[in-house]
Amino acid sequence: MKIIKTVLQLQKVLSKERALGKSIGFTPTMGALHKGHYSLVTRMMQENEIGVVSIFVNPTQFGEASDLKKYPRTLKADAALLSKSGVQYIFAPSVEEVYPKKGKKKKLKLDLKGLDSKMEGEFRPGHFAGVCQVVKRLLDIVEPDALYMGQKDFQQFSIINHMLRTLKIPTKLVVCDIIREPHGLAMSSRNERLTKDHRKRAAVIYKMLQWIKRNKNKYSPAVLKKRGMEKITIPGFRPEYVAIVNGDRLTSVRKMDSHDYVVACVAVWAGDIRLIDNIIIKK
Ligand code: AMP
Repeated sequence: MKIIKTVLQLQKVLSKERALGKSIGFTPTMGALHKGHYSLVTRMMQENEIGVVSIFVNPTQFGEASDLKKYPRTLKADAALLSKSGVQYIFAPSVEEVYPKKGKKKKLKLDLKGLDSKMEGEFRPGHFAGVCQVVKRLLDIVEPDALYMGQKDFQQFSIINHMLRTLKIPTKLVVCDIIREPHGLAMSSRNERLTKDHRKRAAVIYKMLQWIKRNKNKYSPAVLKKRGMEKITIPGFRPEYVAIVNGDRLTSVRKMDSHDYVVACVAVWAGDIRLIDNIIIKK
């Protein structure tokens, strides 16, 4: 396994692999890797001959500078974990490498068709523009056959899927299941920063999502959302939204019967840590 820091070096090794006819899988991450990331990498290695994992804390997708600063950076431990996965290349570039000064102002112009206006888009303005910018840049560098992303970030992969189709990028998007801690909390690099008490009580988030799924035919989406918000309003927790949306368009669902694909999504602050999760309630 090689850790590569520059675009040129990565492109050089990958063009050799490609010339040998090898398929290339790519998993973009921001590091501080956990079992959720590892499941993406495992799937990537099952389906491709060559695996590339990027570890890059992308500044353009963070709203607050303090959140960016606090984001854990654990390259040594990440590399140790990945060394068991069979991945051949870790791409760990600097900010300057990803965004060379000359190109800094070049923003990706892409109509996200409202996919970015609700949920995360409402509470994290500019976030998805930053995500699209970095994923496009990384795809241009790696040119993978397949891209691995988690259902954990439901809105993110929906938007990336839209970007791939709109820009006619010939990369297959593979979406992987959410990996959870034993009590149900979706794994996240941010969980490490939760207090012991908050981490324990964060089990309420998945319990609430499961309650919505169980009761999808009993109550209207409006009632499910309201009751969902109440269930996670516990000491130390501040919910931002519970949304019930069409899984393709991410538009609000008013009547369950009118949609074949429905997802419940949630964002909640546990102390000063923001957690997101979701569950497919109908497909
Ligand atoms: P991040 O490092 O948080 O940007 O995440 C990198 C990729 O890992 C994204 O595609 C995430 O959706 C995915 N991911 C993060 N947490 C999980 C999880 N608990 N289960 C599955 N995939 C995850």
